Amino acid sequence: MSGSMSRRQAIEAVTTYEMDDEGFAEPLADTFGRNVFTLSVMKSRLPKHVFKAVSATIDKGAPLDPTLADYVASAMKDWAIEKGASHYAHVFYPLTGFTAEKHDSFLEPDSSGASLAEFQGKTLLQGEPDASSFPNGGLRGTFEARGYTGWDVTSPAYILENPKGNTLCIPTIFISWTGEALDKKTPLLRSQQAMSKQAMRLLKLFGHTDIDTVVSYAGAEQEYFLIDRHFYFARPDLMTANRTLFGAKPSKGQEFDDHYFGAIPDRVLAFMIELDRELFKQGIPAKTRHNEVAPGQFEIAPVFEKSNLAHDHQQLMMTTMKKVAERYGMVCLLHEKPFAGVNGSGKHVNFSLGNNNQGNLLNPGDTPHENEQFLVFCAAIIRGVHKYGGLLRSSIASASNDHRLGANEAPPAIISIFLGEQLADVFDQIAKGGAKASKASGVIELGVDTLPPLKADAGDRNRTSPFAFTGNRFEFRAPGSNQSIADPMIAINAMLAESLDYVCTSLEKSAEEGLTFDDAVQKVLEEIIVEHGKVVFNGDGYSDAWQEEAATRGLLNLRTTVDAMAQLDEPAIKELMSSYGILSERELKARKEVVLEQYALALLVEAKETLEVAKTMILPAATRYMGELAGTQASLKAAGVDMETPVLKTMTVAVSELNDKMDILEEAIGGFHGDTVETEAEYALKSLIPVMNDVRVASDRLESIVADDLWPLPTYSEMLTIL
Ligand code: ADP
Ligand code: MG
Repeated sequence: MSGSMSRRQAIEAVTTYEMDDEGFAEPLADTFGRNVFTLSVMKSRLPKHVFKAVSATIDKGAPLDPTLADYVASAMKDWAIEKGASHYAHVFYPLTGFTAEKHDSFLEPDSSGASLAEFQGKTLLQGEPDASSFPNGGLRGTFEARGYTGWDVTSPAYILENPKGNTLCIPTIFISWTGEALDKKTPLLRSQQAMSKQAMRLLKLFGHTDIDTVVSYAGAEQEYFLIDRHFYFARPDLMTANRTLFGAKPSKGQEFDDHYFGAIPDRVLAFMIELDRELFKQGIPAKTRHNEVAPGQFEIAPVFEKSNLAHDHQQLMMTTMKKVAERYGMVCLLHEKPFAGVNGSGKHVNFSLGNNNQGNLLNPGDTPHENEQFLVFCAAIIRGVHKYGGLLRSSIASASNDHRLGANEAPPAIISIFLGEQLADVFDQIAKGGAKASKASGVIELGVDTLPPLKADAGDRNRTSPFAFTGNRFEFRAPGSNQSIADPMIAINAMLAESLDYVCTSLEKSAEEGLTFDDAVQKVLEEIIVEHGKVVFNGDGYSDAWQEEAATRGLLNLRTTVDAMAQLDEPAIKELMSSYGILSERELKARKEVVLEQYALALLVEAKETLEVAKTMILPAATRYMGELAGTQASLKAAGVDMETPVLKTMTVAVSELNDKMDILEEAIGGFHGDTVETEAEYALKSLIPVMNDVRVASDRLESIVADDLWPLPTYSEMLTIL
């Protein structure tokens, strides 16, 4: 298919797109949670004592008596069958970062030759999907195939709809026969528990004795691109690598910022409306939708939830986004950098911690200097980010996210923390011996009498910081668009567990030494801010000056996945993960191996695809154009017109450049090897990326010379603006 053809098809799709004016009959509010086996559904269907036990597990983290599973399974099955489900699936989250599911029918033949719907407690509690082909980083060989899924009571089951039949989905963990975690959920739950234990210990020191649990909350803002599907199918690079490996910069990109928060095109808005509805059905509280910075780029953000549930919902959200986009003739791209030179897509993970009794523990109130408890939690986070910056960076490492971090785009690969003016000032005062005042939040003068005054926050925002305090939560802005939020949340919970443990130990020791509680708090706050204040940075994270300053402060600047993953060999990180029971050394090492393996493979696939497209699409187009030019020149000469075509000369140079670079790339691909995943990844980084880029540069140069009707790939401006 030629580029110009897909352009015509896409234009046709856009210009003939008709909004069907069939709205949705059901009010949006009524759809919320319709497909979820919620607490209220359980309440109406379970015996009282069973419901009480299950809700104690969900709300308070209490262990669940497995003998109650039969009751839940039976109620769940009846509910699912009433909802049209014929199958059930244990859904799990392997190390690939994707979602996996294996469906089984409810129906089992009975002795009379008929079939009976069966679903027992033991089937709810545990499954054995084998699933030995998932990457496991050496935790098991394929001959050791046993892998188990286990019901996660804290994340509700739901119905996955399909016009042909529905499926009951049960969120689960996925572990090996030896009990080692083969997934992202197991360590997420373990990290949550470790954090909760230390946070409760700290709250008790502050005099709160009526606490059952402390949970971490997460709200992930998801950026994405939409393009017309005709373009997608005309771009083999998008289809195999999920990003464009070629493409000259458009003459108009995002420089006017005219797309950001702009009017949303009808087709896109219709997609968003249907997406919200689908998410609502699954109990996913979609809240915000808008255009993002780049043309063709958008964002969706749900209301935050407990991090385990937010994780499962986030995974389901990504799948649903792709499905719904297809219904509107579009493809949803979740890659971190689908278009070079154009804003990439991140996933900002907002997090806080709290519980039903105390609410949000990161809420500073109007006078944070008086709110000791808030300051202590905040200090624990500052300490954690400083001490475990390498872990945070490794939690978001991937070949695709490397295009954002440490490249020419925010946030930088240096993990620092932004506190805002008010809080930074409070900690400054603490470092100097004690905080006496908080800068007040104010009122914004508008200069228009008819407008009511607007309240100003006490601190401004900083878009360039990877880890920013935003009023009552922290926002980890470095995760990538396509990534699971499990790893960042595991890292955050883990560093918090250790930091809170440190704070508690210090406070307990001070009490033994006879210090008053206030003095003990001031002492630990001061110690932390003096030792770890280096990680606080409120300036421009994009500037070159920051790169230099960060180095003098001794902060890590890990630009690539290879550098970032090496952090998992650091004794402090191994110790953190194993001593709090989150990941054993073997489990941690396995994770490192999987990330590096996936990194190397992703780059190898990109390199091969680059060569393939250059060979079979770009070079033929370029030589065809040269033939045309040569023919024109010959005809002109025959007709007595003596005119050189300078383009032919330029083409000759550009094509031979491309040929040379392709030869080098081919050789580099042939030489891909490594005795370990580390050396393979290193090879991909050093020997594949640069030569792949060279081929791209040579090709992009040709794109700006070759006749438009001969160019075989849809261009950037077409893909980004015809929507
Ligand atoms: P912005 O773009 O201004 O950062 P958005 O409204 O797009 O804000 O997204 C903010 C995200 O932060 C939402 O998902 C929201 O639910 C989440 N959030 C708000 N408060 C908290 C909190 N206390 N803990 C965790 N996440 C939160
Ligand atoms: Mg936002």
